[in-house]
Amino acid sequence: MTRTRTVDNRTVLVDLHFGQPEVLGSYLLLGDRPGLVETGPTTCLESLEAGLAEHGVRLEDLEAVAVTHIHLDHAGAAGVLCRRNPRLRVFVHPVGAPHLVDPTRLLRSAQRIYGPLMDTLWGEVAPVPADRVTVVEDGQTFQLGGRALRAVETPGHATHHHVYVDEEAQVAFTGDAAGISLPGCPVVRPPTPPPDLDLEAWEQTLDRLEALRLRRLRLTHFGERDDPATVLGELRRRLREVEALLLEGWRAGEDTDRLTERLRGYLQPEVEARCGQAAADRQELAANYRMNVLGYVRYFEKRLGTRP
Ligand SMILES: [Zn+2]
Repeated sequence: MTRTRTVDNRTVLVDLHFGQPEVLGSYLLLGDRPGLVETGPTTCLESLEAGLAEHGVRLEDLEAVAVTHIHLDHAGAAGVLCRRNPRLRVFVHPVGAPHLVDPTRLLRSAQRIYGPLMDTLWGEVAPVPADRVTVVEDGQTFQLGGRALRAVETPGHATHHHVYVDEEAQVAFTGDAAGISLPGCPVVRPPTPPPDLDLEAWEQTLDRLEALRLRRLRLTHFGERDDPATVLGELRRRLREVEALLLEGWRAGEDTDRLTERLRGYLQPEVEARCGQAAADRQELAANYRMNVLGYVRYFEKRLGTRP
């Protein structure tokens, strides 16, 4: 099975096969000392290794990995990778760093959301030794896979989110900051899990990303988009449309199930019409209506207090 696609002559998208193909990816940055953007979760380690092997790279060859944020689908395997590769360094946002070193709180919060599915979804979440973590600040440039990447602080989805920009190539590794859109399913869905969702911060993030005048976005979920203005504009519009939709239901006292149906009813017809059923199902794996609702409800409670 081919697990990778070449996105340019020195960058490879590794399909981590998270339940389905083309849902979750890592980017392999080829060079004398190869690097990686996003580790994926430990449950996808085999796919990651197989993908690297297609390009003659072993885990032990990697010099460093940069994670856009510490959610388990993006960084869950960081500790296990460090165990396998004693040289590996991990670049991360300053607020994310302590949670890689001690994932106790991160795991507790994930446990509340995923409950009994934790192991099946993510597998082992090992701590990253503190001396392997390199904190990168907003605006800081560092070398990864033989190229310079600049960290751009991009909160909204998470308070501790970085986008990594390759300025020479005018491309950015966007994590979840530019939303979710899969090959064959161009609808841009906002990933809005609890607990950090912040729409005002996310709008400023979108301003920042638009101002970069990028040629391409490299999404973790999933792959390249060569129309950044369209993606960012659609995400901006949907974040607010979903807010209005869910706020109405939340104010009316609807519970999580009702709100989830409300959101599905709004988005799913368009997703199915534009993407077909199979791609729509794959997209739901990455985006998840219920998770979206929980994130918004948390955001409403923070901003507006508990509802009347
Ligand atoms: Zn994600």
